[in-house]
Amino acid sequence: MKKNILVIGGGPAGLEASANLKRLGYNVILIEKDKQLGGHLAKWDRLFPDGVSAKQTLNALLDEVSGVNCFTETEVQQLNVLEKSYNAILSNGITILADAVLLASGFDLFKAEKKEEYGYGIYEGVITNADLEEAFREKKLPAKHPQAIGFVHCVGSRDEKAGNPACSKVCCATAVKQACEVKEVYPDADVYCFYMDLRMFGRHYEDLYLKAQKEFGIRFIRGRVSEVAETTDGRLQVKAEDTLSSKPLKVTLDMLVLMAGMRPSESGKSVGRQLNLTTEEDGFFSSADNLLSIQRSKLPGFFYAGACTGAKTLPDTLHEARSAAIEIDRYIKEKFSEK
Ligand code: SF4
Repeated sequence: MKKNILVIGGGPAGLEASANLKRLGYNVILIEKDKQLGGHLAKWDRLFPDGVSAKQTLNALLDEVSGVNCFTETEVQQLNVLEKSYNAILSNGITILADAVLLASGFDLFKAEKKEEYGYGIYEGVITNADLEEAFREKKLPAKHPQAIGFVHCVGSRDEKAGNPACSKVCCATAVKQACEVKEVYPDADVYCFYMDLRMFGRHYEDLYLKAQKEFGIRFIRGRVSEVAETTDGRLQVKAEDTLSSKPLKVTLDMLVLMAGMRPSESGKSVGRQLNLTTEEDGFFSSADNLLSIQRSKLPGFFYAGACTGAKTLPDTLHEARSAAIEIDRYIKEKFSEK
């Protein structure tokens, strides 16, 4: 009889793991709390470092899950550990007996309004990285050409006061990508990136950074923005300190984009509470072994994939999802061949 695997979360990690588990011969039940599958990828326009379409990338992942039982707008209401399986009661009224469970609950974006000094939700010109992606996707960028645009890195990341000392890993590259994209739309605008230090660690990321400077003339200013205020003519006055020259700096902008970082998802936390899953200081789930088995939790038969164990890029998320499918296959084979 085919074994049942419950996958919680229909973002890239959940989709990729489900497709691989299906190929390995399992009966996969994939649940997603939102109306549509795809997680944050469904809300993005283009992806770094090559600017490929997020929609095309998502469609390729969705093609792979045809044949998987998918329930959207569905969450786990109750999850119980049985002797050799898990009993899951879903919000759609269905009960599932799962031989293994994969948690792929991803991340939530940091709520930028919590950093009051940046004025998100107060000044119209202050938006987040996600708002800008939506504007690109919906082709709703401001019609009036902005003269100057700024990007603030590390919003809600690497920030003890915000309760998150960890780096979100993807927002430096996203900021550089978005800075190039706004420059493509508004070539005459001055574009600034305010950063703490640039973490462009992936293949071709450095090329993107060099292109941003050489081709697009984007100005990188090392320093934290301390205050944003509105000018009498409705623009934004931004105060920062250039920590390379040790000089205070004031610039007037028309748009300020806050690079909101990754936080553990509320939906993941809810599952964690039901099973007493352990988390690390950053709030993301702890793996059984941070070197040899990131996908295994401390509970037998319960696995992780993607950003529920910490911020990661899309390629890393997809690698983890494939690894999780292999780990689950190994677990099922070992567990059910026991005498
Ligand atoms: S990736 Fe860059 S912007 Fe994001 S938290 Fe790390 S250093 Fe800050």
